[in-house]
Order: sequence, then structure tokens, then C-alpha cells
Amino acid sequence: MYLADHLSRSFLKETKEVLVPDLHVNDIHLISYLPIAPEMYAKFQKETANDEHLQELQDVIFNGWPNEKSELIHSLRPYWTYRDELSVIDGLLYKSNKAIVPKALQNEMLDKIHESHLGIVKCKSRARDVLFWIGMGQDIEDKVKACGLCAQHQSLNAKEPMRLKTSLPTSLPLLMPQNVNNSEIIKNSKFAKKKAKTNYDKHCGPELKQLKQGDSIVMYTDGKWKAGKIIQKHHTPRSYVVQTSDGRRYRRNRRHIRPTAYNGNTVENEHFKNNHNLTVRKTSTVCNNSQTLDRSETVASEENESIEPSKSPVTRSGRTVKVPTKLNDYVK
Ligand SMILES: [Zn+2]
Repeated sequence: MYLADHLSRSFLKETKEVLVPDLHVNDIHLISYLPIAPEMYAKFQKETANDEHLQELQDVIFNGWPNEKSELIHSLRPYWTYRDELSVIDGLLYKSNKAIVPKALQNEMLDKIHESHLGIVKCKSRARDVLFWIGMGQDIEDKVKACGLCAQHQSLNAKEPMRLKTSLPTSLPLLMPQNVNNSEIIKNSKFAKKKAKTNYDKHCGPELKQLKQGDSIVMYTDGKWKAGKIIQKHHTPRSYVVQTSDGRRYRRNRRHIRPTAYNGNTVENEHFKNNHNLTVRKTSTVCNNSQTLDRSETVASEENESIEPSKSPVTRSGRTVKVPTKLNDYVK
């Protein structure tokens, strides 16, 4: 116990480690590791010797580092963090296994690092494997950023962080979910639908009659009514498949179809083939003398005069439709 105490107080004087500059073992290892041509190696040695800054560093490495960073001269303080990794071998300075590049060779090294135009990240990682100088990363960045080729082939920007919708302060009760009264919603929905129907129906006529397959009809298209037949009911409500006299098929809503009294093979179809259109009028305008024509579904030929009486259009109830002579000018 006493002995230990004694020894702890009477320690030996501190000895300074004297590094052997040309230690052969290190030499072989580092030079074989560093991928460097003999001429370049000589150049490194020469420029390191001429580099005032690196010579100061070399002196500190040889003579030992001070206890405090603040005791270093200003220009060497950046090396303080790496002081344990620094060494001098054969006139070259190293940080671990990487050669420290003298100022005079830095531009040349930058050119070599960048000669493949790999962009900032790859250039840096390529350089960091073998070379070191203070501020090397920044120098590489500046070099690459000034290069047009690297700029053209750089990668996309990373996506930006998510932005939440609002930065407004919101009170807690507003963020709490509220109970929903289901029956109230259904009731309101029904009411709204009913109201919409009422308003819509104010501008509607009565519901139109269903049509059967084979019914003769006129179909509204391109601003005119065109004759045709019902081929079948379409599966969608109120729609029909219609074939016109020229053989083409259409799908039409019931609203754009009116039944006519024509049957398919009368002279009227011949008229359609000759590109004549039917004119459909409401009963009130197509009164034939004292006769009242079938309401809403009356078709009159525009060429009343030229049609033989026996082949004049007839209404569904079988009456012959004649356009009053007073309308002849108007129709044409
Ligand atoms: Zn480049």
C-alpha cells in the first residue's frame, strides 16, 4: 500500500519519443500502398521540401505536439484533430495512409481527381482514398461546380421535406372527432334529393312512353330529326339503339326520340335517301283543316305537294298528315 503510493508520486521524468525518419518497415508499406508513379513521387518530395507550411508541420511532427492546441501556430491548428495520424516518411507527409499534397501540386491533383467528370461525391471519395490536404473537399466541390460537363450529368435534386398543411394554432377540441348522427344525415340527404327533383321537374314535361323494338321513330341529331327504327332497348335507363334509314346505328336517349306513324318502307324513306329531312311540329302548328293531329308525335313531310296522297304520312291513329298550303313557303 505504501509502496504503491510512493511509486505513484515518484514517477520517472517524461521521455520524448524520437521518431526515426527513415524507418524501413513503414516505408515499404506506405510506398507500395500509395498508387504513385516514381516521377510524381519525386515531385511530391521536392514540392514538400519547398512548401513552407508543410515544413512547419513536419517540424511539429518530428519534435512532438504541444499539450494544448492553442500552443500551436495558427496555420497548423487545423491539423490538431489528426495529430495522431500524421507522419513523415522519406520527405513526404502522410495522414494515415494518404499523402499530404503540397500547395504547389494541389491544382494538378484537382485536375487528376476530376479528369473522369464523376461529379462531386465520387470525385471526393476517389480523392479521399489516397490524398489529403486541409480544405480538399471544398476545393473539389468548387472545381466540379465550375464544370459544365459535370453540371449536365449531375443527379436529380433530392425531394424536399414534407410540409404540413397549416402552421395555425388549433385548439384541441377542434381536433377531436365528433359523433355523427347517421339518421340525421340520411334524412337530410333524402330531403336534398327531393328538393333537387322538385326544382328540376319544374322545367320538365311528363315522362315519355316506352318504345318497342321495331317502332318507327325520328331521332334528333345535328339539329334535325332523322327517321329510323328502334332496334332494341339499351341496358341503360331511357336509352335505345336506333337504326336510321341509311343503315347506321345510334344510341339515343328517349328524350331525343319521337315515335312516328311512318312505317319503314313507305315513300318517306325514299325521301330520306334523297337527303330530305323530316320536319316535326307540334300539333298546334300542324292543324290540317278541322282535324286535330295526335299530340306530340306528329310528323309531316316538307314536300307535301309532291307526295302522292295514298303515300302521305299518317299519324299513329291512321290519319293522313297534310301540311297546310299556307306553310309551303315557310317550310321550303
Ligand atoms: Zn467535370
